[in-house]
Amino acid sequence: MAELNRRDFLKLGGVAAGALAVDLGLPRRRAQAAADVRRVPTLCEMCTSRCGVFAVLENGRVTRIEGNPDHPTNLGRPCARGNAGASALYDPDRLKEPMKRGEDGKLYPITWEQAFEEIGTKLNQIRNLHGPEALVFAEYNNLNSALTKRFTESFGSPNHVGHAANCFANRNVGYSAVFGALPSVDYANVKFYLSPGRNLLGGIKVSEVAALARAKANGARIVVLDPRHSELAGWGEWIPIKSAGDLAFLLAVANVLITENLYNKEWIDTHANGFDQLKEGILQYTPEWQEQHTDIPAEKVRQLAREMAAAAPAAVVDPGWHGGNGMYWNGYEAARAGAIVNALLGNLGAKGGLKLSPKVAQGTIDDVPEGAVVDSGGGG
Ligand code: SF4
Repeated sequence: MAELNRRDFLKLGGVAAGALAVDLGLPRRRAQAAADVRRVPTLCEMCTSRCGVFAVLENGRVTRIEGNPDHPTNLGRPCARGNAGASALYDPDRLKEPMKRGEDGKLYPITWEQAFEEIGTKLNQIRNLHGPEALVFAEYNNLNSALTKRFTESFGSPNHVGHAANCFANRNVGYSAVFGALPSVDYANVKFYLSPGRNLLGGIKVSEVAALARAKANGARIVVLDPRHSELAGWGEWIPIKSAGDLAFLLAVANVLITENLYNKEWIDTHANGFDQLKEGILQYTPEWQEQHTDIPAEKVRQLAREMAAAAPAAVVDPGWHGGNGMYWNGYEAARAGAIVNALLGNLGAKGGLKLSPKVAQGTIDDVPEGAVVDSGGGG
């Protein structure tokens, strides 16, 4: 039997959905007319992008997800993962009640009362024996995280661990150390896009993919540093790099920008502190030095640095998710080096460069009107 890859599967899914629409379109529309159909604006929770969607309910049951064209993140386009959200809601294996492991190692349902009673008793024992800091609340960050953080703090522990510690904390801290905050990329207008390890087409953020596709259509140069040939590498030039070599590569790019006087002097003079120390410290990180850490020829680094300078300020090193191509011991420094290259290109605030989002004023829990109900869904 022929092997079916993911792309074929998605294509087949599209064909099957199309065929169904042709065959069943009329009866379905008639059925819909009779059904009580509601479109509820909400956010997709299938990944952290939290695209704006409508949950379409027919007789109280979610039958499909539609994109919300007014939402700035996805502009009306949910991805395949988001479209699958409705099936996750009604998955027979979805946990809908507390479970407790029995002596035979299997999980059995218990009542909420029993769960609260047992968890509360154990938490009190831990606090009495070891102090409140012994509690670590670990979870994937979600829309309930404000409540779990509040719970952890009320218990007396500062130890709330979420997605960031296992994913993007290096990047956030590295970029914040240089710029004071985490910038994002003006993908739509970029002219030279360097991605150290980010695979935008594999870990999709719909709005960013659409924006980079526009830049590509306008002739943007896309360069991907990655040990493997990712989907995004197919959009431009793939430069295979040794794992954890991003720091060395980015330092060497900074070396070329500074020693060949290609950096944005005006931007640096106006905004940067500590440039003289950087200039002195970067001398040792030559394109030749980086070769041993990256397997990338020195001349290639020089060529890329010059191209980036020529395209600046619409030239950008993508902070990505990790600041470099993975979760390595030098990830924080790789993120900082990427931020420094961006600063040397003077792209912060420029069209096609990095941008800082305006702050949105947030309310407090005291602003929630009395009697408001927070409905976290349910289903099943
Ligand atoms: S990118 Fe896809 S999975 Fe993530 S929030 Fe948007 S629609 Fe949902």
